[in-house]
Amino acid sequence: MLAMDYRGPYRVRPEQKPEPVIEHPNDAIVRVTRSCICGSDLHLYHGMVPDTRIGSTFGHEFTGVVEQVGPSVERLKVGDRVLVPFNIFCGSCFFCQRELYGNCHNTNPEATAVGGIYGYSHTAGGYDGGQAEYVRVPLADVGPTIIPDDIEIDDAVLLTDAFPTGYQAAEMAEIDEGDTVVIFGAGPIGIFAAKSAWLMGAGRVIVVEHIEYRLDFVRRFAQCETINFREVGDMAIHIKKMTDGLGADACIDAVGCEAAGNALQSLTGIKLKWQAGSATALHWAINSVRKGGVVSIVGVYGPTFNAVPIGNAINKGLTLRMNQASVKRHLPRLMEHIRAGRIKPSEVITHRLPLEEVSDAYHIFSGKLDNCIKTVLVPPS
Ligand code: NAD
Ligand code: ZN
Repeated sequence: MLAMDYRGPYRVRPEQKPEPVIEHPNDAIVRVTRSCICGSDLHLYHGMVPDTRIGSTFGHEFTGVVEQVGPSVERLKVGDRVLVPFNIFCGSCFFCQRELYGNCHNTNPEATAVGGIYGYSHTAGGYDGGQAEYVRVPLADVGPTIIPDDIEIDDAVLLTDAFPTGYQAAEMAEIDEGDTVVIFGAGPIGIFAAKSAWLMGAGRVIVVEHIEYRLDFVRRFAQCETINFREVGDMAIHIKKMTDGLGADACIDAVGCEAAGNALQSLTGIKLKWQAGSATALHWAINSVRKGGVVSIVGVYGPTFNAVPIGNAINKGLTLRMNQASVKRHLPRLMEHIRAGRIKPSEVITHRLPLEEVSDAYHIFSGKLDNCIKTVLVPPS
């Protein structure tokens, strides 16, 4: 089958690979119909995530059709159209019982933090991803969700990660009616966080970014105010001035670690023991929120060195909330928002490329070229 193949930082290509097979009685094999590239894939692509092995297949945001099921699968049958949350989770461990599916204990037992994730390195369990014609879906009765007839497939694929993650970012921000929420990053996650902040009753939503076309997009999609961070001096002072001297009630980090550390490494040729990521947005979030406010972090940070101003966070009595999104928990509510016409997730899809063009697709999304917001890869049918 055709699949994306990782060859090292900034190098991916289409490759013929063996088709996956049922390995456990509760597996399913899914024929992929849509597979997005996520900002999280860029951390892999930039070489920021430890134990990302050459030859691996990325992809954790996909829809598909069930092709085969293992003997103990009961809920899915061949031919079902499914959306598959990016978390691989058992549904029954200590964490899953608390709906913390992103922290499942059984699907990545060697790790202390994250659970299993499709196509996200051996740090996240070493599972093959869905930027391929076929993918093995473990615990098939637990994660995959049958796509209802009234939900379009392009909206469904955004329910596997980007929309629920933006939504959870807003939920973790503990927004009260009328609150001012500042969101760092106008990628898909920040865009969905902005829209979700309104759905949760925010009184004012401000998005910080530096790429003009993304600022334009989020203003249109989420009717929010924006700040181009290249045009302001000190971010915290700027936001204080905009908020009667208090600061924002909540700040959301939808950026995560940036490729700065990787660039440093390749420019200097010095092999760093840790891979540095720049945590600028997190600094700004902590410094721009009001005292007693909430900082919600969904931006991904590898196990890297980041000089986080934790002292300021303590002195300000902040609540810091952060997690991998628990996709499945949000699906019923998000489908209701779609049905009620409050949001059309697929509007963020700007690029649709055949899987054969995976190399161009990563190049465009990583470089923020050609007004790209979200890219969908379509495998050959
Ligand atoms: P993206 O790369 O499309 O968007 C990130 C945006 O942040 C870019 O537009 C970039 O210009 C902007 N940016 C960079 N530095 C900034 C700064 N200092 N201040 C404000 N904006 C800045 O990525 P995305 O798909 O939107 O994902 C965003 C983050 O969310 C990534 O770190 C990704 O790994 C993470 N993520 C987390 C989860 C989760 O479950 N926690 C799920 C999906 C994605
Ligand atoms: Zn993702």
